[in-house]
Amino acid sequence: MPKLEISKIHDAYKEGGECPLCSLLDAVERIYLHSFQHSRVMEPNVRVQTNAKGFCPDHWNKLYQQENRLGTALMAHTHLVESRPRIVSRLESLRAEAHKARGGRMRSRLPLSAKDGDVMDCAVRDLADSVDRCFLCDLLAMDRARYCFTVVYLWKKDPEFLPVYRSSRGFCVSHFLDVFAQARKALNREDLALWLDETVPLMTASLERLEGEVEGFGKVHRYESTEPVGETVRTALVRTLQKMAGRMFRPEGK
Ligand SMILES: [Zn+2]
Ligand SMILES: [Zn+2]
Repeated sequence: MPKLEISKIHDAYKEGGECPLCSLLDAVERIYLHSFQHSRVMEPNVRVQTNAKGFCPDHWNKLYQQENRLGTALMAHTHLVESRPRIVSRLESLRAEAHKARGGRMRSRLPLSAKDGDVMDCAVRDLADSVDRCFLCDLLAMDRARYCFTVVYLWKKDPEFLPVYRSSRGFCVSHFLDVFAQARKALNREDLALWLDETVPLMTASLERLEGEVEGFGKVHRYESTEPVGETVRTALVRTLQKMAGRMFRPEGK
């Protein structure tokens, strides 16, 4: 059973917003990014993981945007030391396989058959995997699992949580899927139907409201109105993007 994160979930619901999981994961991601630049960069068990997995493109970019480029450079260097032999061997195996398949004069004019491609497909998968693997995404996935577990747990067990849950805006679409997966695992059929009876209306109402709000945002910008813009309209676009994309959006540098 994953660790419960009761106070974190309560705090996130108190804060409000389009999706409590987006807020929690955004906050914890910032903490990780900061710590990779400072204390964590030298911890041996962390280095073992960053050497082996590295980061996905999004997280390399976020690390690069932090102020301490030296920390990022140290991690990039040792990750490259560890991953280069494997990358080079896959590249070489692509080349060797192409030469092997070339065969005689006639055969060399034919495109590769599916069978010829087996070793190549394997090398390609391995190379693609080396780009996608990410120590930070793995850490966030564990946090996400604990948060989803706690939301479903509280919904089922804590009567004080129910009114808070019912007055929330549901989740972004991506985190709805995560919580739904957890609800499907943890709840019996009757409770799953009840959970959906409560949650689907939160989601549909929130999507409908955002549609109107982001339209309002568009109008204000289209007509370059000089009227003062309220908080709801001002934040409508970032909240709509969050609902659809499952992450917090903020202006550059914030
Ligand atoms: Zn979310
Ligand atoms: Zn990542």
